Amino acid sequence: MKIRSGGHDYEGLSYVSNTPFFILDMFNLRSIQVNLEDETAWVQTGATLGEVFYNIAKKSKVHGFPAGVCPTVGVGGHVSGAGYGNMMRKYGLTSDNVIDAEIVDADGRVLNRKTMGDDLFWAIRGGGGSSFGVIVSYKIKLVRVPQVVTVFRVSRTMEENAIDVVLQWQDIASKIDDNLFIRLAMDVIDQGNNKRLKKLDCHELCWIESVLFWADYSPIDTPIEVLLERTPPTLSHLTRKSDYVKDPIPKEGLEIIWKKMIELETPRLIFNPYGGKMSEISEDAIPFPHRKGNLYKIQYLANWDEEGKEKEKYYMELVRKLYSYMSPYVSKYPRQAYYNYRDLDLGVNHHDGTKGYLEGRKYGIQYFMNNFDKLVHIKTLVDPSNLFRNEQSIPILPM
Ligand SMILES: Cc1cc2nc3c(=O)[nH]c(=O)nc-3n(C[C@H](O)[C@H](O)[C@H](O)COP(=O)(O)OP(=O)(O)OC[C@H]3O[C@@H](n4cnc5c(N)ncnc54)[C@H](O)[C@@H]3O)c2cc1C
Repeated sequence: MKIRSGGHDYEGLSYVSNTPFFILDMFNLRSIQVNLEDETAWVQTGATLGEVFYNIAKKSKVHGFPAGVCPTVGVGGHVSGAGYGNMMRKYGLTSDNVIDAEIVDADGRVLNRKTMGDDLFWAIRGGGGSSFGVIVSYKIKLVRVPQVVTVFRVSRTMEENAIDVVLQWQDIASKIDDNLFIRLAMDVIDQGNNKRLKKLDCHELCWIESVLFWADYSPIDTPIEVLLERTPPTLSHLTRKSDYVKDPIPKEGLEIIWKKMIELETPRLIFNPYGGKMSEISEDAIPFPHRKGNLYKIQYLANWDEEGKEKEKYYMELVRKLYSYMSPYVSKYPRQAYYNYRDLDLGVNHHDGTKGYLEGRKYGIQYFMNNFDKLVHIKTLVDPSNLFRNEQSIPILPM
């Protein structure tokens, strides 16, 4: 059984498999009930983040929710796999802001926070829903946002000392005031045809308009109803990987990376700063372990439009190469990864007895570090027959 909410899993695990399967599609379960009195909302998992943001904004201009920047991402996968967005340094992860949930377990029982118990409630806030049951809804804690927020986009080329900008960014982005989230993207562009370069560009907006800005819509003349669309404006094939950086990459390292990126052309890097609230929350508060000590997370990305397996292989290989060039500069033993940036190169589980546990341990440690053992323990208790499984689910303990 594949459980699908927004269908944005980077490896398509909610709708692709080599073995026969059926899909439990949550998309009709998408009600959102915002309660401003206690500043919470019950959100069904088939809703998208855009629908959540829209419904909050319709009721209040000074409330928001810390979640991902792509409005078509589904609540089900995003929240159960941790989820981050541009308020993470201020308010933490999406699942740090979850206060209740409804889940259908392997015995068909409908459970809430109280009846599922602390352990299962812990597991489904970052450990991925699809190992534990079908999550029907989450109760989220709204956060306060100012009447006016400022967004900006600044581009610099190599000739404009881009490397120095990255060096400085590494020094300040995780230490600066936690009201500020500065994401950095490194990209190879055609200088002759460069439409993306702009001068310093600050806009003062209300929070929901800033959501449009982050989603690459013009915040001034796009109606916020665009956030209700469930299909992204452009569709392409894509692959992603992730890494964590604990020490600044030295100038020579950045120069090597630039050189390699120019050779490879397609893959991009996006750096998401940590620090702030992320450093205050303990590594075992929820299954997501990448907290204090991380300067930033790297996202590797390639998008392409050409069809066919050959092209897919070609672009995935480019990203793998860049990932391998980065190994001296990123976390080690284990090389850590973000679960919601699903990456089957980290391992695939065939759920074959003891082997299934060992296969699960391989990717599980990279995603969850010391929290992996607790996830396995909870999984073994709540779903001993491994009904809820996929290529990268939490394995059960071998008998
Ligand atoms: C364009 C794009 C932008 C993104 N931006 C961000 C971002 O800004 N921040 C961030 O943190 N992540 C981001 N992501 C990653 C995203 O958070 C994950 O891919 C997330 O798992 C997607 O959730 P979904 O419900 O859309 O996916 P789905 O493919 O429906 O589900 C993902 C996984 O969760 C399981 N699942 C889904 N619903 C349920 C449920 N109700 N109960 C139990 N299990 C369930 C599925 O079986 C699958 O294993 C982005 C992804 C894309 C494609």
